[in-house]
Amino acid sequence: MEFTSFQELHRNISARLLKSVFLTSVILALITSSILITFDTVKTRKEMVSDAFQLLNQTQPVTGESSHQATRVINRLLSAPFVIQADFRLPDGDVLVQSTRKTVNSSPSWFTQIFLGKSINYQLSIAEPKGQLYGYLNLEINSDWYGSQLEWRSLVTLISGLALSLLLSTLLFLISPWLFNKQQLKSRLNHLFNSSEYDYVTRLPTERCIQKKLEQLIGASSDNQLSAVLCLGLDDFKPLRAELSFDDAEHTLIKVADRLRGILDEKHYLGRLGEDRFLIIMEQLEEPFKAAELAQKLITRIKQPFQINNKQLPINATVGITLFPEDSCDVDELIKQADFSMMLAKSRSQGRYQFYIASIDSEIRQKKRLEQDLHDALSHHELNLVYQPQVDYQSSLIVGVEVLLRWQHPEQGLILPADFIPMAENNLDIIPIGDWVLESACHQLHNWHQAGYPDLRISVNLSVIQLKDKNITNRIQYLLRKYNIPPHLLELEVTESSIMEDSQLASDQLQQIKALGIKLSLDDFGTGYSSLSYLKQFPFDKIKIDKSFIEGLPENKENSVIVDAIIQLGNSFGLPVIAEGVESGEQEQHLIQSGCHEGQGFLYGKPMSSSDLNSYLQSYSHSPHQPKSLQF
Ligand code: C2E
Ligand code: CA
Ligand code: CA
Repeated sequence: MEFTSFQELHRNISARLLKSVFLTSVILALITSSILITFDTVKTRKEMVSDAFQLLNQTQPVTGESSHQATRVINRLLSAPFVIQADFRLPDGDVLVQSTRKTVNSSPSWFTQIFLGKSINYQLSIAEPKGQLYGYLNLEINSDWYGSQLEWRSLVTLISGLALSLLLSTLLFLISPWLFNKQQLKSRLNHLFNSSEYDYVTRLPTERCIQKKLEQLIGASSDNQLSAVLCLGLDDFKPLRAELSFDDAEHTLIKVADRLRGILDEKHYLGRLGEDRFLIIMEQLEEPFKAAELAQKLITRIKQPFQINNKQLPINATVGITLFPEDSCDVDELIKQADFSMMLAKSRSQGRYQFYIASIDSEIRQKKRLEQDLHDALSHHELNLVYQPQVDYQSSLIVGVEVLLRWQHPEQGLILPADFIPMAENNLDIIPIGDWVLESACHQLHNWHQAGYPDLRISVNLSVIQLKDKNITNRIQYLLRKYNIPPHLLELEVTESSIMEDSQLASDQLQQIKALGIKLSLDDFGTGYSSLSYLKQFPFDKIKIDKSFIEGLPENKENSVIVDAIIQLGNSFGLPVIAEGVESGEQEQHLIQSGCHEGQGFLYGKPMSSSDLNSYLQSYSHSPHQPKSLQF
């Protein structure tokens, strides 16, 4: 069945739905009413038989062949209003006595006659000798006596059952648009059609069908026959889809499929893998480059804009190619490899093709596994924090600590943040992780304040993703209150690159955070596009010189000049400067002489656990680090 638009399909489904719901409910109503009526009938007939039996028991038994006695019994039975006729027969069948009521009000209706019957028969036998038959008693009954009530009850049961079924089916039909909104219906239909092997939007074979085709290909091919599996993915289709209406998005996919059909010929097999991915099987290749040629052709032709609803839509495609039997002889593997190569190509730059490379595949698989592990790291308590002291060069005191994240992986051991923070930023895991870091840092600082270091400050690294999170200010405010932290003792380190992406949003968020009284530090200063305008535009309280400039000080003249310039810049903006990565006395000396305010690095202490930092603080307060420049 072909549907030209989604609405038509929806209407068609609704009409069919109404018909089937209505029919089903009517059938169900008929079945349940019949069951109820049958029960009622059986009950009424039992009642009728028991009444007649009671009547018989009240009369004197007929013995022998006395017609006198039999007439008495028959007359007595006829006195009951529901008995029309009664006869007594001898065991050989001869009628001994028969009598009929003279006035019968009406003839019983067909309904009661069918359901309750017309007569009741008794075998008459005497007690001694046991069970000896002496006659038959037949009663013709006016079933209307019992049945008129039954008729009414049955009619009411039937009508109310049908009315209820009509009501329910109408109700169901009325709420069906709500139940079947477009997305749900689409996914149900997708499911329906996927299982039927053809995609309902593009009418292309689905993955199921593609798998079958590949199975045939693998089964039939001889050793030296080369085939290629190409996975074509549309670039940035998801954001485009969000902009388009539902119908326009579907229409675009149909047009893409049509264009692909136009490029390919009978040697190729085209299917849809799902969403914005198509799969092409190219059989009997002479050379692998033929697959590359086809991929390039597809990319170039897809690039030509699509005309959708009077709009020109530019769409790009990226292609991943895997070769059979070279790369794999397994159906699922081939599809996965083609898909993976397409994703790999996309991650480098879109609008190009990429052949499958096994080594990169395993590297990416490992990365993906690590990403999954990271997702569970917080709940599995595999993350922990270390603290690195920060020294004030004027007082030589430890004035702060920077909190740094560590991941103790159960198999791979210690993993440093550089290897997992970007991953966590990519899949937004940094939001719960960063939140946990913030809370743990505030908790720890509270403990240190209680333990006799009430002026100690803590610096927490804030990711760009956290900075974009609209809840961040409220969260920080809540933590400050919860752990009773004076706001100026919490410092957030933000890198230049993170504020560059969306500087307006970053600026607004930083202003709000700053309004809480929190200190803001510009981390890794000098590594990005350090621009004076950042210092003007953003409300920073401190500049942190990146450790790459401290390396090689003071011999490295270039670095010396940069460091001096940064310190000068800070001074002219009234911002104190902290240097990170201070490893030697010479570096420290240079920094102090240049007017740097604070230092952090292995010279003072490596990042350490909170308990090690406790001991460190204790021993440090007894013999503070004496900078070389201050030693005489
Ligand atoms: P960063 O903020 O620049 O942190 C300083 C890095 O320099 C730390 O590396 C620290 O261990 C290292 N370091 C400190 N002193 C020295 C030294 O004297 N010599 C040398 N060679 N290195 C030194 P780490 O802990 O591996 O952190 C790397 C980066 O990961 C951090 O750079 C920061 O950007 C990020 N990061 C760490 N923890 C967090 C966190 O909780 N949240 C977020 N968003 N990022 C974090
Ligand atoms: Ca930092
Ligand atoms: Ca840094």
